[in-house]
Amino acid sequence: MGKESFSKHNIALNCLKQFNEQYNKGRWEAKGTDRSALVMGDALHQVLDVMMRDYVNGALSDVIDALREFELSRAVPRVYPDIVKEHALHYCRMYQSAAKRSKDTFDPAYITRFEWMVRKAMADTRWWVIPGLNEFGEPLTELKVDFTIKNALGEDFEFTSKLDILDHTMSPYDYKTSSELFNPKSDCNILAGKGYQLGTQAVAVYEKFKIVPPKTGFIIFPKKDALEIQVLRVSGLTVSDLANVKLRMCWIVNTLEWHKRQNRFPMQGIEGTKPNCMFCQFKSECGV
Ligand code: SF4
Repeated sequence: MGKESFSKHNIALNCLKQFNEQYNKGRWEAKGTDRSALVMGDALHQVLDVMMRDYVNGALSDVIDALREFELSRAVPRVYPDIVKEHALHYCRMYQSAAKRSKDTFDPAYITRFEWMVRKAMADTRWWVIPGLNEFGEPLTELKVDFTIKNALGEDFEFTSKLDILDHTMSPYDYKTSSELFNPKSDCNILAGKGYQLGTQAVAVYEKFKIVPPKTGFIIFPKKDALEIQVLRVSGLTVSDLANVKLRMCWIVNTLEWHKRQNRFPMQGIEGTKPNCMFCQFKSECGV
């Protein structure tokens, strides 16, 4: 059984057919239609990464010290700062010119809104926090955490998690680009829907550092309906909450394995929910 990630689970929870095509047969690739959210997500990380370089030399020294205590110095960086800068400039140029070329693929209004929100995020020191340091003491832009958990039968399950932000309280946050605002009532449930990721990133912190993070959250850059960055947090998690998330993670892996063995990939999510075909990037290939 290979390493499992949240993004893989997210796809399986939404649509088993899409999961099958991407991870079982490995044929489908995102292309053509609406890639704006994907590109925006990439651009968001890259642009924020560039700004982090300057910021980290000043006000974040306390965070760096806190992270040193957790011995992150051997972690491997995703990208080095100079490369990051080149990438960020590249992404900025790319989505600006794409917006001029095609209003269908890149909504210029989103780009304007996106840039405005990124600038606002950069001005807000709370979201300028690094997830770790590399071996040279430079800031990481993403912390990869591999861990193994046991289910109730004592079987081992391997997972991998990427943390965008780990603040000085060791609370993990994830940057999100989204077509619309998240719903705080339903999207903060750590065992279901989008909130499941909140639980898995809290588990990753717990497994790596052996502390229950005080909070776990999303920093959301919505495509429409709002000019503000939306921040959703869950606090007050307990060891028992994390144990429930872990059981669910193992259950999802087992369920996926069952579907693989049966070669059973219906057009519905892993819990029987109907897939959101309207917004699916594989709609043309899928044929529904
Ligand atoms: S179009 Fe619908 S059924 Fe097909 S892969 Fe996408 S979500 Fe699944």
